Amino acid sequence: MNGTNKEVWTLAEVRGKTIHPVSKELLAWGRELADPMRVPLASILVGSGVAPRAEELIAAGADKVYIVDDPSFENFLCDEQVGILEYLTDKYNPSILIASATTRGRTVMPMLSARIGCGLTADCTELSIDPVSGRLIQTRPAIGGNVMADIKTRGRDPQMCTVRPKSKRPLDTDRSRKGELIKVSPPQSLLGSALKFLGFTPETSVGLPIQEAEIIISGGKGMKNAKNFAKLEELARLLGGTVGASRMAVDLGWVPYSAQVGLSGKSVTPRIYMAFGISGAVQHIAGISGAETIIAVNHDPEAPIFRVADLSIQGDAMEILDALIDSLKKEQSERWTLTAD
Ligand SMILES: Cc1cc2nc3c(=O)[nH]c(=O)nc-3n(C[C@H](O)[C@H](O)[C@H](O)COP(=O)(O)OP(=O)(O)OC[C@H]3O[C@@H](n4cnc5c(N)ncnc54)[C@H](O)[C@@H]3O)c2cc1C
Repeated sequence: MNGTNKEVWTLAEVRGKTIHPVSKELLAWGRELADPMRVPLASILVGSGVAPRAEELIAAGADKVYIVDDPSFENFLCDEQVGILEYLTDKYNPSILIASATTRGRTVMPMLSARIGCGLTADCTELSIDPVSGRLIQTRPAIGGNVMADIKTRGRDPQMCTVRPKSKRPLDTDRSRKGELIKVSPPQSLLGSALKFLGFTPETSVGLPIQEAEIIISGGKGMKNAKNFAKLEELARLLGGTVGASRMAVDLGWVPYSAQVGLSGKSVTPRIYMAFGISGAVQHIAGISGAETIIAVNHDPEAPIFRVADLSIQGDAMEILDALIDSLKKEQSERWTLTAD
């Protein structure tokens, strides 16, 4: 290990040759940690042909970017990424390393923590610096989402955690910010993987991924069957939204896991969240606290979801969906008729 560099690091996520927006959310978290610690905030950028993108990370809040740019990183191969991160943490000895709790972050960070023998707190919703010890306080839901636990890592640095996407807004882009770009050439032996990339199949669902959607139309067990989810898809299409679901609906095989909202699914921050036939268990509510407006439809007046809803509609989910779809279609056809006239 070289030196006693006490930087805060964030792991930038790369998709092809672009930087995924979660990387900028991480930098907003990173600034809140690096500033009270009075240390530089650095982002780690690993990919193929990504070096020209490094300035974006500076504009989003980084003081430095460590760049590893090599064609061998064309596709995401976990063991290769972990090898590079092990090399970088050993060479520069950062104090904190945070990654996003995306599929990639959740894959790379546990492997890295086991490899370098450091603790890891997964899926944090809040981060801060303890003013007394200067250590990282990592806050995350625990015991089925019933309590929020503050966790500190003992032992050697870096203090490592993953943070829920959408748990923080990125900082405003500032293209006038100046920063240091450091190109790192790792040993040749680290460029390569024991894994073979076979292909990539994007998911085909209506609308944006739930974490990027402004309008989410979610369904739960009260939707009764997979076929009725077609109604949710139709409403989502009419409103320009995306379909979400409770864990029950996912476990029943009606929708893919990528649509699951909640503690063991994803946290979402839409403008409008509509819940059809979802009871409102704490684990589901944990994922929608960032929604601006919650509209709940349930036939049980005592459903817990009504306690957090801004608009509560008591009734049969399928009947209300049919009525909404009919009236939106009617409104749209009237608008088109008026436009044509
Ligand atoms: C560790 C852990 C993690 C979990 N993570 C998650 C998570 O990430 N996300 C999640 O959602 N859950 C999660 N759960 C599960 C959670 O506790 C609930 O079991 C789940 O959210 C219930 O799903 P639901 O609301 O669809 O089903 P139910 O609780 O069965 O509710 C169905 C609702 O539909 C209503 N309904 C029925 N028929 C109709 C109708 N015709 N019209 C209108 N309303 C109707 C009922 O009144 C009821 O309120 C987790 C649980 C644990 C223990």
